[in-house]
Order: sequence, then structure tokens, then C-alpha cells
Amino acid sequence: MRTQVGIIGSGPSGLLLARLLQLQGIDTVIVESRSREYVAGRIRAGVIEQGMADLLREARAGERMDREGLIHEGINIAFDGRLERIDFPKHTNGKVVMVYGQTEITHDLMKAHIDEAGGIVYYEASAVRVDDYDTKSPRIIYERNGQQKELVCDFVAGCDGFHGVARRSIPNNKITTFERTYPFGWLGILSDVPPVKDELIYANHERGFALCSMRSHTRSRYYVQCEIDDKVENWTDDAFWEELCRRLPPDAAENVTTGPRLEMSITPLHSFVAEPMRFGRLFLAGDAAHIVPPTGAKGLNLAASDIYYLSRALLAYYKDKRSSPVDKRSTPQSGSVDKRTDLLDRYSETALRRVWKAIRFSWWYTSLLHKFDDDPLSRRLQISELDYLTSSDAGRTMIAENYVGLPYEKFE
Ligand SMILES: Cc1cc2nc3c(=O)[nH]c(=O)nc-3n(C[C@H](O)[C@H](O)[C@H](O)COP(=O)(O)OP(=O)(O)OC[C@H]3O[C@@H](n4cnc5c(N)ncnc54)[C@H](O)[C@@H]3O)c2cc1C
Repeated sequence: MRTQVGIIGSGPSGLLLARLLQLQGIDTVIVESRSREYVAGRIRAGVIEQGMADLLREARAGERMDREGLIHEGINIAFDGRLERIDFPKHTNGKVVMVYGQTEITHDLMKAHIDEAGGIVYYEASAVRVDDYDTKSPRIIYERNGQQKELVCDFVAGCDGFHGVARRSIPNNKITTFERTYPFGWLGILSDVPPVKDELIYANHERGFALCSMRSHTRSRYYVQCEIDDKVENWTDDAFWEELCRRLPPDAAENVTTGPRLEMSITPLHSFVAEPMRFGRLFLAGDAAHIVPPTGAKGLNLAASDIYYLSRALLAYYKDKRSSPVDKRSTPQSGSVDKRTDLLDRYSETALRRVWKAIRFSWWYTSLLHKFDDDPLSRRLQISELDYLTSSDAGRTMIAENYVGLPYEKFE
């Protein structure tokens, strides 16, 4: 079987890329190891930057988001008994974020791409590897119904998450990885209770970090920092609510509505980047290429910015008939920059520029808010930095402009 763009993985990266290409008449086939129900039911991120919201509208999958999503004009940071609000529009020339669950985004993209427009997704089909990625006909080797098959493509997009096979198809000596594992996790609860406040609260507390987040006016998502080897089985719902309230300022804690869990899970925190993000005709996007701790709400949004750059590059190739890097034997690594070099050549460096800024912000924001050790000096330094940042216009602007999302680079 042959297609123009073969995509591994039907998470937000893969679905969004397929949908944007579909609208321009470019054929794709997605190979996804899980069932449709499993992918649709996954509960993950919930804060969307303006760039991603615009991309979903461009994909004609943003209608429900615009109807049901919650526009947030700020966040609150709790520390040392204080609650400080960071006003986004004031510090970013009017920018805001949207609270709308990844589960809903996945649902909307599936409906638009598959149900309404007939996009092809092979569910329960596991990619095994990518062959011939440095030729004109890269191939996705996959297993479906107990049989091994291959999909021959013009290009392959590896959108198969951190544990996927696209990145692992590249020899170790051609890829450089950067990684940090944080010495704690996040214990999260999802519950059908109204949120404690209409905007998120990020809390720095001597017992550890806490986050009050939400999915809607009636569904809340809360997290507390936990030991890295902690287990969900160790936590009752009551124990969770009690620990959360201990870490919030008294006014906020009094307003917490408790309820039974819809879901409870523990998320480890990592920073990870693989460079480059392009190997011949194989392009990595989203979690396949990078992971951030969820503190800055950047994981999903980075997946979207990769897809912004990759979709533009592929559209330019097909629509403008720009020559491909493989045809011209010129790659960014070779250092020969041709005026006609297409956007595919620049994908890796352009995407990585934004990735590294988000990696930096997520690492910094995590370091500022979490308890790393019992050293009283560490804690006093955090409080002092938070005091400085929230008393300075420059400090508030730095937090706001990173949180709402740095702009996407525009192409001529
Ligand atoms: C528990 C959790 C909580 C999170 N919370 C937040 C948050 O609060 N804020 C935030 O911004 N981000 C959060 N993230 C990160 C965010 O969800 C991811 O950045 C986002 O899902 C990335 O999308 P993706 O499409 O690149 O990868 P994924 O969503 O991981 O999708 C990859 C897809 O590839 C499929 N796949 C894997 N291997 C194969 C294979 N061999 N063959 C075929 N298919 C394959 C997988 O089944 C999956 O469907 C969270 C992540 C997790 C795991």
C-alpha cells in the first residue's frame, strides 16, 4: 500500500497533521497501535495556547472548543500564605489561554478527520520500524491482525509518542538525546466537582507542590507532588483531598469541593529532547521528540507547534513543488543553505528553537514551585524568587509570555 504521508500514532500530533493535510488534498494513512476507544478515552492535558487553538480552528475542528472551552486570562501563584495573580492580557498584549481537555480535542479531530471526511486510520496496527527513511520511498513496517505489512510513503511522520518506534528506527550515532528525570511525581485526581477558583492555582508549599486545575465548570483536575515511587493504591479519595487542602492558602482550601474520583493516576516528570527531529524523509513530532514536565502546560502545545511547522513544510512541498532535501542532497547538517531550500530542510532547527524555550520554561517553573529537598535555604530562595517575580513587572511579563506560549515563526 502507498500513501503520500504515512503517520505513526493517532494522538493529537498525528491526528492534527492528518487533518491539516487532508484539507489540502494530501493523502495520509495513520497507523495506531491502540484501539479507537482507548485513544479517545485517554485523559491528559487541558491548557491550550492561542497558537494551538488557532490551528484547531484551521483544521475545522475548533467549533466545540470555541463553544465549550473556558478562556483564562490569568493564573494564580500561591506561596508563603499569599495568592498572586498573573494577568495575561495585561502583560502579553491581550493574549489568553483556553482550558479544553486533550480528550475533547482528540474526539473533535477524530470526528472531523475520520467520521466526516473519511480519513484513514488503522487502529490496533503497531508500527515495528521505519525502513529506508533516507530514500525517496520510506516504508512503515507494521503488524495488524497478526500479519506484518508495509506502507510505502513519500514522507513518514513519527507522531508515536515517547515510547514509539519512529525515533528508535534511527541508529544511536545519528541522534543526540538530552534527559532529566525529576525526583518526584504528580498524583492527580479527576472529579466531577466545581473548581475551587475560576482560574488555575499553582501552589508552592513546604509539604510540596499542588495544582488546582479544571476541565469545565463542573469537572476539576487537581494534583499534589508525591514521592517518585508512590502508588495510587496508597491513596484514598479523602487522603488526597486532605493533602491538597493542606497545601493551599486557607481561603482557597475552604472553597474546595470534594467528591469521588473519576480517575486517579501518578505522572512521573521528565525533560527530554532528541536532536535532530528530521532524518531524510522521516520527521519526528510531539512527544516522539521531546517531553516536558507538565508544570508549564507545554507538552500538548509543543506537539501542536511541531505540527504547525511540519504541515507548512509538507504543504509547501506538495503545493509549490519545492524540491525535497533528499532529491537535492542538501540537508541542514551539510551546511549548504540554498535560497530555494524548502521548509522541510528547516523543520528540525525551526521546531527545536521553540522546543528548547519551552523545555527551559518548564524546567524553571518546575524548579521554582516544587520541593526538591529539606534544606531550609532552598525553600527561602524559592520564596524570595517568587516574591521578586510577583513584585516586578518584568517578572510577571516573563511568566505570562511563556505561559500563554511564545509565537510561532512565520514563513515568507
Ligand atoms: C499522564 C499524562 C498527563 C499529561 N498532562 C499534561 C498536561 O497537563 N499538560 C500538557 O501540556 N501536557 C500533558 N501531557 C503531555 C501531553 O499529553 C502530550 O504532550 C501529548 O499527548 C503529545 O501528543 P503526541 O500526539 O505527540 O503523543 P501521544 O499523545 O503520546 O500519542 C502517540 C500515539 O502513538 C501511538 N503509538 C505509540 N507507539 C506506536 C507504534 N509502535 N505504532 C503505532 N502507534 C503507536 C500511541 O498509542 C498514541 O496514540 C501529559 C501526558 C501524560 C502521559
